[in-house]
Amino acid sequence: MPLYQFRCDHCGSFDRSYSMTAVPEAADCPACAGPARRQITAPRLGHGNSAPMRLLDATARSASEPAVVQGTRPGARRATQKVTTNPLHRKLPRP
Ligand SMILES: [Zn+2]
Repeated sequence: MPLYQFRCDHCGSFDRSYSMTAVPEAADCPACAGPARRQITAPRLGHGNSAPMRLLDATARSASEPAVVQGTRPGARRATQKVTTNPLHRKLPRP
């Protein structure tokens, strides 16, 4: 569930986690139990170690630090393996 930031006029900001469909406009302050309004902030959809955050980090990292590949992955089809059995394809130019 995403985190939302609320601000109490007396105590300051605090975070609460709500589902996207049930987020209130105001919540009770944990310190003084007074009303605190929800703040407009950037979306904080994931926690630091969640699967979506790991995927986003890996995707961003692959743009600047691509992994070095030493060979084909195990089980990959070899170049000498026959791709087609159609006899007409034998007339096609070879690379
Ligand atoms: Zn308060």
